[in-house]
Amino acid sequence: MEKFEKPIYVTKPFMPPLEEFCEGLKEVWDNQWLTNNGPVLRRYHSELKKYCASDNVCLFSNGTLALQIALQGMGISGEVITTPFTFVATTHSLYWNKIRPVFCDIEPDYYTLDPAKVEELITPWTTAILAVHVFGRPCNLEALADIAKRHNLALIYDAAHAFGVTVDDNPIGQYGDLSMFSFHATKLYHSIEGGMLTFKDSGLCQTFNYLKNFGFKNETEVVMPGTNAKMNEMQALMGSVMLRHVDDLTAKRTRVYEIYRERLGGVPGISFSPDPEPNIEYNYAYVPVLIDEKEFGMSRDALYEKLKEYNIFARRYFYPLLNEFACYQSVPVSKPLTVAEEVSRRVLTLPTYMDLGEDDVNRICDVIKILSE
Ligand SMILES: *Cc1c(COP(=O)(O)O)cnc(C)c1O
Repeated sequence: MEKFEKPIYVTKPFMPPLEEFCEGLKEVWDNQWLTNNGPVLRRYHSELKKYCASDNVCLFSNGTLALQIALQGMGISGEVITTPFTFVATTHSLYWNKIRPVFCDIEPDYYTLDPAKVEELITPWTTAILAVHVFGRPCNLEALADIAKRHNLALIYDAAHAFGVTVDDNPIGQYGDLSMFSFHATKLYHSIEGGMLTFKDSGLCQTFNYLKNFGFKNETEVVMPGTNAKMNEMQALMGSVMLRHVDDLTAKRTRVYEIYRERLGGVPGISFSPDPEPNIEYNYAYVPVLIDEKEFGMSRDALYEKLKEYNIFARRYFYPLLNEFACYQSVPVSKPLTVAEEVSRRVLTLPTYMDLGEDDVNRICDVIKILSE
């Protein structure tokens, strides 16, 4: 088996047709307006409100600042129950608000927060649950909503991976009190960099707008110590152009996922998450598989290293767990994170992106199958 001539990375940002971006650029040049709620951003904002079927949509320079501002604007404090199986920014956003993260185990099928283990972690200081629709798979929405309601906690979703996902035809951002989406270049859908909040309480709109723009109310009044987290016109333009292509992006990733599933689903020692329930429209943003060392004949780490020899750069999302990073090692973990530890040790995320040819996906599968023999 020959190695790939050029490296195949886990993902590659999608570049929309240059003409479409240039058309918009001309408008930005004519406007001579680059940031601070410009005309392109305002138009993009309305497009997203429609897409998200929500009036409460706020845009930011990136997803991390969006989440930090969300927590601050909602007045979350004390302890927040969250998952260790996610990107570091989820917990960082708590830290930046001086909130104590309380890590809770995940469930074994979709790797999302396990509601059955949330309740025993609630203390008098708990103010919220911060769950992650990891790899775009919706959390157990009903069970989490029920716990949040009974204990009077805010329910916040890190939906960074879940753009375009719907549940019972409702955009995923309509669940919980608030959801954060990331439009980073490496995500399924992007605005170069960017972030979005969608939320239930329309009263928060004003607060978020203050917080992302230094707390300015008008020229002479600053009403709170805000930061700078505004989305600029170039980002908004990219986001707006990309919105025309989001269905194609999802369709392509669905196809890629199907090939992996067809070709690798039966390989001993490789397992996929169960298919989404019929009421879920999934975005197939990522292709995580679990490797069973005994059955596969090689550990996840050995496979990960071996694939590099073929110029295939899969990623170990998410390894290590957040509580294992030096900066969070001192966070007390009161209940075992057994499932998270196992998934983190066995998970491998395979390449998927718009420009990845179907023949390349087949070749990646061939390599993995040969290595398994
Ligand atoms: C990408 C990501 C973020 C951060 O988003 P940025 O836009 O890169 O700041 C937060 N949480 C998760 C789960 C992510 O994957």
